[in-house]
Amino acid sequence: LRIPNPESRIPAAREFDLIERIRRRVASRADVVLGIGDDAALLAPPAGQLLVAAQDTLNIGVHFPPDTAPADIGWKALAVNLSDLAAMGAEPAWCLLSLSLPLADSDWIDGFLDGFCALADTHEVALVGGDTTRGPLSVSVAIHGFVPPGQALVRGGAQPGDEIWVTGDLGDAAAALAAGAAADARLRARLDRPTPRLAAGFALRGRATACIDISDGLLADLGHVLAASAVGAELEIADLPCSAALARACSGSQRWQFQLAGGDDYELCFTAPAARHSDIAAAMHAAATPATVIGRIVTAPGCRLSAPDGSDWQPPRRGYQHFSEVSE
Ligand code: ADP
Ligand code: MG
Repeated sequence: LRIPNPESRIPAAREFDLIERIRRRVASRADVVLGIGDDAALLAPPAGQLLVAAQDTLNIGVHFPPDTAPADIGWKALAVNLSDLAAMGAEPAWCLLSLSLPLADSDWIDGFLDGFCALADTHEVALVGGDTTRGPLSVSVAIHGFVPPGQALVRGGAQPGDEIWVTGDLGDAAAALAAGAAADARLRARLDRPTPRLAAGFALRGRATACIDISDGLLADLGHVLAASAVGAELEIADLPCSAALARACSGSQRWQFQLAGGDDYELCFTAPAARHSDIAAAMHAAATPATVIGRIVTAPGCRLSAPDGSDWQPPRRGYQHFSEVSE
């Protein structure tokens, strides 16, 4: 349904100028038969692979603070989508970009493309189309990639006895968000420029029993793995990876809260048999990705947290949920 409001459209000439600015900047790939400029893109998926598709949207004030630089918005819009493909063990290939902009601002677009294209070029992802409309600032990316049949990393395969791993550090982005303008630059960079863990996801094919990316907080996202796998977990709070910047910024239960329930980390949380520990550690090393064991999968449902002194610990908040005033 299109509401007949002429104000809702960017003037045709300005829209064309924006799309042309985008088209000039994007790299192509051999499997893009026809990219930006026609009614739709024509793409040649490789024979024998599954097409993996994901889409994530960033809304101003919800997924990034209003003071976020356009280049950081561009980076993050693609990074969160690449993170979903990483969590599937997929190799990214193509994306589409839907932009809702309050103004047809060419400086904003150029800045946005600085961040977007830097990440797209690093991972050889081609932007093959999209849509440009007027409205509150919102950026939605749809991404496509490939994985061989039977090798995708899904949420439902965790088994009792598996170790629970996470890549990188936890809680930096949430600490930056909580600190607002006073945030440490290193923490703020983790909020604005998350690192999609594609090499790790790729290396986990055939190794991990389950995998998810941490967008809404460790407990919330691990909870999805536990539900899909019909298992429970025991986590050691003392083993949660913590960056030097987070250790400087906060301590004790406030830090645990960021590590366990803070969103926007975009690290991978995965499970693998304990017998494969050294194989996983070697694979993560080869993928140049730090990874830490934080607990184990158990039969009893739920997630038990052990504080460093050995006592059980209950977090006041388990993760970020859209559409709910108070998280569980
Ligand atoms: P149509 O009206 O046929 O949908 P558009 O004017 O919306 O055409 O788009 C023209 C071309 O530009 C299409 O190939 C479309 O995929 C591409 N395009 C539009 N907006 C974007 C964008 N934000 N990013 C990338 N490609 C875009
Ligand atoms: Mg269109």
